[in-house]
Amino acid sequence: MSAFEVFEGDGRMEAGIGDGERLEHESAPVDRAELLRSYLRDYDAPCPSCGYSLRDLMGDSCPECGEGIALRVELAQPKMRMWITGLIGLSLGLGFHGIVLVILLAIAFFEGAIDDLWPEAWPIGLGALVAGGGLAGWLAASGWIRRRPAGVRIGLSFLCWGSTAATVSLFLMVIT
Ligand SMILES: [Zn+2]
Repeated sequence: MSAFEVFEGDGRMEAGIGDGERLEHESAPVDRAELLRSYLRDYDAPCPSCGYSLRDLMGDSCPECGEGIALRVELAQPKMRMWITGLIGLSLGLGFHGIVLVILLAIAFFEGAIDDLWPEAWPIGLGALVAGGGLAGWLAASGWIRRRPAGVRIGLSFLCWGSTAATVSLFLMVIT
């Protein structure tokens, strides 16, 4: 008999430790549904989606909005501020270049001057590429960025804003 036994009955799972052995690593099939129920027993936690009180929740979804609810371990301070700051810088860059690109294309199309577009549009294309690529990397590396020391996080978010400022300035220099 293994150290860890799972009993199944009436649709409910219960896990228990037998034989007095210690559990190693993460092989244990912890009953997360039961942990969630224990956490919310007599505890007024609001639904993260709609704010409805999940006190004494029996299932694993919010009775009000239907979103799935899970119990998680997270950092006491998620260190999101600098990551969000950088995200805004890159998003503004992508938004600006994207909108200007659409406007330039529309003007060129209606004036039949699509061939003359390039001298004005290349900084916009470059800016969209830099902001779009940066944004993809920023999203993909969010965990890594948030684990860097504070100085590095601040520097990286400055870089996001700097790249947007640089590509927007380049565009303004080229069109004037
Ligand atoms: Zn809800």
